[in-house]
Amino acid sequence: MIKRLRDSIRRIDFARLPPEYRDIFPREITFTNINREKIFAVMMIVVNLPLVFVDYFNWEKAYWSSMPGYRYLCYLHVGAIAAMLLFLLATRFNKINSPADISAYHHVLAAAFAIFILIWSAAISVTDQLIHRDITAFILGMFAVASAYLINARLALAVFLVPCVLLLYALDHLQTDPHRLKGYCINIGSIAAIAWVLSRIFYIQYIRDFINRKIIDNQKEILARQSKEDFLTGLFNRRYLELLLSQEFARARRYNLKLSVAMADIDHFKIINDTFSHQVGDEVLRVIAQLFRQSIRSFDIIARYGGEEFVLILPETEMDEAVMVCERIRKTVESHDWSSIAQGLSVTISFGITDDMSRENYEKLLSLADIRLYEAKNGGRNQVRF
Ligand code: GH3
Ligand code: MG
Ligand code: MG
Repeated sequence: MIKRLRDSIRRIDFARLPPEYRDIFPREITFTNINREKIFAVMMIVVNLPLVFVDYFNWEKAYWSSMPGYRYLCYLHVGAIAAMLLFLLATRFNKINSPADISAYHHVLAAAFAIFILIWSAAISVTDQLIHRDITAFILGMFAVASAYLINARLALAVFLVPCVLLLYALDHLQTDPHRLKGYCINIGSIAAIAWVLSRIFYIQYIRDFINRKIIDNQKEILARQSKEDFLTGLFNRRYLELLLSQEFARARRYNLKLSVAMADIDHFKIINDTFSHQVGDEVLRVIAQLFRQSIRSFDIIARYGGEEFVLILPETEMDEAVMVCERIRKTVESHDWSSIAQGLSVTISFGITDDMSRENYEKLLSLADIRLYEAKNGGRNQVRF
């Protein structure tokens, strides 16, 4: 029975959180909690400062100053300010810029803050019994924690119930008049229930926002990738290639650096498609992309320029070095074991290279590489022209 109740309380929160987020979610929650609590701490200081003076006046100067309650209230307000300053200092000590920075220290700090607020507001309400006999401070404290401090259903049960029980125990101990005590019981019980429900509403809303945020982040990432990646081969697409080439061209011009550009085109690719199938053609494109990736340096750039055309940008590379790279790729493609894709399949590729930095812009540089490529095609294919 207890177990079933416990599980159903657990389900209230966790059923809404997809399993892949269960590791990062507690850190997200604590990150949000600490940031909210920082605002809350400043507010507490602002509210408590004038109250220190008001209660100090009541305690020292007013004719009713013989009432001890004012002295205790004064202590409690000073204590709250000191605790808030300490909390703000503790957050500076171990700074957090993102949920990834959250450690056990921050989980404890965030929880300590919420518990302090509840105990402190209960203490104010107990002290108030010596003066005007109400529990407003406790009600405010409960609602503030319920709305600002995100906490899962089971922990919330403890966090909201324990201060209520402690407060009722203290009120009973102070020998509050039994009719008033009965009223307090009803009030505190209702506050506990409302605070728990409020806390659920905010928590579940937070989970929903969190999931939506993750979906948007994922989509942003996919869009950013799609805008520069070719989906078939995973190489850069033509749009992104042109951007990179324009940058490399400008950089080489500005600093008088070498820059080689090669254009590659698969030989008789149409025949491969027609003889085998488009699926085989696609697989050939993927494998060639992989062979390109394996053969270049980390700062070289390779892109799929069109159907079966590729562009290779080799920054700070002389022509003879570029020829070596392209020859190596040409031979790798030629000698690759294509029979694993289709029996009888063989693939070759032709290259045209230029390093002519006297061209007025990168488009002209690229068209020169294209002219060389057509020379390679006319010269019998499966070769490198420069
Ligand atoms: P050449 O040696 O002169 O380059 O001859 P080629 O057949 O390779 O040249 P052509 O430009 O006539 O043919 C290119 C073919 O590439 C035609 C087109 O159907 C095919 N192609 C373009 N994009 C894709 C693709 O994404 N997948 C597949 N399977 N084929 C593609
Ligand atoms: Mg071709
Ligand atoms: Mg072509």
